[in-house]
Amino acid sequence: MAAKNIILLGPPGAGKGTQAKRLVDERGMVQLSTGDMLRAAKSSGTEMGRKVAAIMDAGQLVTDEIVIGLIAEKLDEGAPGGFIFDGFPRTLAQADALGRLLAEKGARLDAVIELVVDDAALVGRIVRRAEEAKAAGQPVRRDDNPQVFAERLQEYYKKTAPLLGYYYAKGGLSQVDGMAAMDAVAAAIAKVLDKG
Ligand code: AMP
Repeated sequence: MAAKNIILLGPPGAGKGTQAKRLVDERGMVQLSTGDMLRAAKSSGTEMGRKVAAIMDAGQLVTDEIVIGLIAEKLDEGAPGGFIFDGFPRTLAQADALGRLLAEKGARLDAVIELVVDDAALVGRIVRRAEEAKAAGQPVRRDDNPQVFAERLQEYYKKTAPLLGYYYAKGGLSQVDGMAAMDAVAAAIAKVLDKG
């Protein structure tokens, strides 16, 4: 299987993290989730973590500079199976920066996969994710509640959804039905990856 670098795009709760983890297990790809990196910085109490905590808890986007820096560091580590960008890029500036960073390494994006979902179902998914984490004794994300979710969805439509047009115009956008069962979504993603 040739290494592929892909972006999973979609609103919060679309299933990007779940699908990314499957790709890690099944294909040895490396998941780069800026949300996970920021939460780790937050819980370990680094200066950057303290700086972003309030913004994340409010459901807003942290600065491009911070997340681009995080991604640049990880790209340097390399990934023989390819990278999955999960929750990054979220703005046009981040998308441009990613293109530049990959080009500097002689790498490219092989696919941008949009998980197409029904907004009305998303709040339910987020509430369920919080309940499941609680039941499993895992920490519940502070932004997984209906109030903050509304802000996260707004941020998505204002700042991230324009990336769909951006990547469509570049010719690398594929759409997958994110409302299908988890295995069916995984199969649809695999089809995109194995296409070229
Ligand atoms: P996520 O886990 O991807 O839903 O991200 C959780 C939170 O981290 C977001 O609501 C933002 O506050 C922040 N965040 C994650 N990735 C980015 C990004 N690429 N750009 C800006 N903020 C981000």
